[in-house]
Amino acid sequence: MHVRAPRPAEPVIGDLGCGALVLPGDTPSGEIEALFRADRALRAVVINDAGIPSLLTRAQLDHRMTGRLGYGRALNARVEATDLLPPPGTLLPPSLDLRAAAAVVLARQEQHRYEDLLVLAADGPRIVPVSEIFEGLSVLFRQAALHDPLTGLANRRHLEEQGPPLVGATDSDSSPTAILYVDLDDFKITNDTFGHRTGDAVLAEFSARLRACTRPADLVTRLGGDEFAVLLVDVDEATARSIAQRILASLAEPLTHDGHDLRLTATLGLAMSTDIDDGTPAARLEDLLRLADTAMLQAKHDGKRRLGRIDPCRPAARFARQALIRRRLPHALANAGFSLHYQPFMNISTGSCTAVEALLRWEDQELGKVSPVEFIHVAEHTGDIHAIGRWVIDTACAQARRWADAGSPRAISVNISPVQLAAGNLVHDLQAALRRHGVPASLVNIEITETAAITDLPSAAAQLQALIDAGIGVALDDYGTAYSSLAMLRDLPLTGLKLDKSFIDLIDTDPTSAILVAGIITTAKAMSLTMTAEGVERDAQLAVLRQLGCDNAQGYLISVPLPAQEIDLTQNTRTAAAGYGPPGWTIPRAPQTRPDPVHTPFTASP
Ligand code: C2E
Ligand code: MG
Ligand code: MG
Repeated sequence: MHVRAPRPAEPVIGDLGCGALVLPGDTPSGEIEALFRADRALRAVVINDAGIPSLLTRAQLDHRMTGRLGYGRALNARVEATDLLPPPGTLLPPSLDLRAAAAVVLARQEQHRYEDLLVLAADGPRIVPVSEIFEGLSVLFRQAALHDPLTGLANRRHLEEQGPPLVGATDSDSSPTAILYVDLDDFKITNDTFGHRTGDAVLAEFSARLRACTRPADLVTRLGGDEFAVLLVDVDEATARSIAQRILASLAEPLTHDGHDLRLTATLGLAMSTDIDDGTPAARLEDLLRLADTAMLQAKHDGKRRLGRIDPCRPAARFARQALIRRRLPHALANAGFSLHYQPFMNISTGSCTAVEALLRWEDQELGKVSPVEFIHVAEHTGDIHAIGRWVIDTACAQARRWADAGSPRAISVNISPVQLAAGNLVHDLQAALRRHGVPASLVNIEITETAAITDLPSAAAQLQALIDAGIGVALDDYGTAYSSLAMLRDLPLTGLKLDKSFIDLIDTDPTSAILVAGIITTAKAMSLTMTAEGVERDAQLAVLRQLGCDNAQGYLISVPLPAQEIDLTQNTRTAAAGYGPPGWTIPRAPQTRPDPVHTPFTASP
């Protein structure tokens, strides 16, 4: 860009300050041409037309004076500056908003698109080449793509781009680095209790503290949610530990938002580049992150609010698995890693099975089969549960449709995570899936766990009522495992209750359990709720349940969860062993020696 000082004789528009050559609107075209001829470096002049400045560039003038057919000069020799001005679209507001400027440029006609623009900045007019706008925009976009908008910290992509050169391929070709994996403790509770606005403010404030605890050269990254990674450069373990302690101590002071004093803690995991073998820089960074994540999970398990460090010679397999689950989970949907199995409900008085529960199964290339007990809470933590939940709803509706088309309609119960309920889209997602597959609402039910409802009772109650109004059944799952069970029954609109396996386990051996279950069944009946017993494994349990008037039973005694095709095969193959007569189709009892292959009890701490 070239801007010349005005000739002293020229009237300069006061507001514009100075900096560009400003000519009055009645300046003859010949005079302007002479100016350009005299100064080859002059790119443009500003024309002041009755106080309104416009830009006249050399290219525009040349175009007009030459003319497409060469008659331009003859036509324009005697016109004034204002007649030479191009169509509007060269003047930009004083605050040069790059996006707005780019929009102006792109809206221009092709022949004017690449001409300079005039910006009336506070310190004077500025002539801005189009290339400068797009270069600025590309810097802006790159900045946005590599940073987290909420906290302004680098994002995961930034770490993946800039981290590997810092880590190097070996510690000898670069100075030692470390990763601190930082995770806020129970952040979900803050979000659920005070709302997302407060949650966001907390994350922003914590990010500022994180930055203050680290050194300028360190790369502080928000990986997502309440998870951060700090890449410490040129650091020994003692220094890394002291930075970690500083971060832990930074939370001693409460975070204040909207008059709330929020006391938060964090758990950290440390990994040193000296822990890991040589490899490509990107692979070493990945290993470092995984090791630090594993150390953090271990520290959570050990009581949170501390720094975890894993002996690289003895990696904690269980936490390594959890860390791997986190990393693999986002790929599962894209790679068709999920499937649904279906476990029948048996009507205890008729023996018929006309409903099933959909249970999610995940088989991963690296991890093998992963139980929902292991991965659902991870997905809730990472937010992947939203996409997974939508997939489950869609797949279940598609299956309900197939069964209905095949002439054996089966209602499918879908498990819904508390996090899905908190997001508030459940009613919409379910109804959209029903419409998509042309399935009546009576063929879909949902199961929510007690904790699901506890976090935001009014919102949960409103959504559940909307579902019930639409004809979708709503059962409270794992009933009896949360502490305010009775209050839940009172406050939530429900159509069914599923009694947790822990009650059923002892029902045929422990009289107290049987009395408790009898009480719950009476309560459920009084409230017109359909009662289902979960985890029924023995005939004796089923006999007690029948005696107590329980409606449905589910469990390995009746059937393990099966793929849809196997449910199809077992249709109408009722066996005498079940001890029931028609009507309806039933499923033969599963051999008691065959446990659900995926249900490996794993009590990972969240
Ligand atoms: P849940 O909804 O209470 O499901 C019952 C669990 O008990 C299932 O485990 C089932 O395989 C198992 N089970 C059924 N009968 C018996 C039995 O007789 N004995 C024993 N020992 N276990 C039995 P699974 O499939 O591993 O699922 C565990 C939990 O994971 C589910 O508990 C549910 O809370 C959650 N889950 C499963 N699929 C989904 C899903 O699609 N979305 C969400 N949000 N959660 C899901
Ligand atoms: Mg369930
Ligand atoms: Mg259950």
